[in-house]
Amino acid sequence: TYYIKNAIIGIGENMSSIYNLTYEELLNYLLDLGYKKFTADQIFDWLYKKRVSSFDEMTNLKKELITKLKEDFTIGLLELVKKEEDTGVKKYLFNLSDNNKIECVLMFHDYGNSLCISTELGCNMGCAFCESGRLKKVRNLLPSEMVSQILTVESTESLRITHIVLMGIGEPFDNYDNVIKFIDIINDSKGISLGSRHITISTCGIVPKIKEFSNYKQVNLAISLHAPNNKIRNELMPINKAYNIEKLISAIKEYIDKTNRRVTFEYILLRDVNDSVSCAIELANLLKGMNCYVNLIPYNETTHIEFKKSTKSQITKFYDTLKKCGINVTIRKEFGSKVDAACGQLRSKHEEAK
Ligand code: SAH
Repeated sequence: TYYIKNAIIGIGENMSSIYNLTYEELLNYLLDLGYKKFTADQIFDWLYKKRVSSFDEMTNLKKELITKLKEDFTIGLLELVKKEEDTGVKKYLFNLSDNNKIECVLMFHDYGNSLCISTELGCNMGCAFCESGRLKKVRNLLPSEMVSQILTVESTESLRITHIVLMGIGEPFDNYDNVIKFIDIINDSKGISLGSRHITISTCGIVPKIKEFSNYKQVNLAISLHAPNNKIRNELMPINKAYNIEKLISAIKEYIDKTNRRVTFEYILLRDVNDSVSCAIELANLLKGMNCYVNLIPYNETTHIEFKKSTKSQITKFYDTLKKCGINVTIRKEFGSKVDAACGQLRSKHEEAK
């Protein structure tokens, strides 16, 4: 079996999935075997343009190469365990080769089809309001397991996904190398060719990785802020004890200076926790002058966690206050509450039903 170099903690046959390979890795593998660059182009074309599900279908390759590929790699989509639908949204639960389950959510927007994918099995960040963190991280997802979420949904629904958000289960910057490899694979023009501006990575604020990420390509960055000060943020997000708001904001300012990109701040509105007008003013002062916008998220209530969503009128007040202070702000369109679309909900329901 040909194991890829930088994939960390993968289990089972997905380790040898051909979808783990960036174009350059596939090319090097083939060059080592004495093949030409052209063959790498052909294989990427079979995998990501023609979308074959077996090596035997790659009819323009030499027989001996097909045999070698079969020895070294696996190919194939994820097993669909469960699918739920609501207006404008579909949610999928997939089984992995080691029987772990992952979920992803497809959303139909006026600008395109956006897929929210998971990056880890479970999550170690422990955010108080989030369902995903109730299950500690089991392992990183491999690049192939992220790529396959896209391929499987596209094949199941017979459509093309135009936007990717890394906002499913997991903290992308806690699985940095595999996530970057995944983006390299789907961004490659010889493959799925998803434009980097159509990819958004969301992080709870792992500061060193934000710095590292500023040297990477122009992918959108979203920060889960959720609080205007350390007192509230410490209570909601344990990561704040490692990298507090001052460190986070200064890393993001550096990121913006370096990349010239606008950053999104996500802010879940939790009733009587972080949704007061004075919180809005504090938030506006924190973000004043930055090239950013705030995406207010109505909280998706879950059965295990006590937080309540803010009232409509409080959401409007918060929004109006930010606007008045000159902050760019939107309220996230709410869908998916019927399909348990908030991070980790479908999987935890499935686990309980067993
Ligand atoms: N770990 C990354 C990405 C996954 S979470 C991050 O923290 O950004 C994606 C987004 O969903 C985050 O902003 C997270 O705070 C938010 N989220 C988690 N649970 C939610 C819920 N029940 N309702 C609304 N948003 C939620």
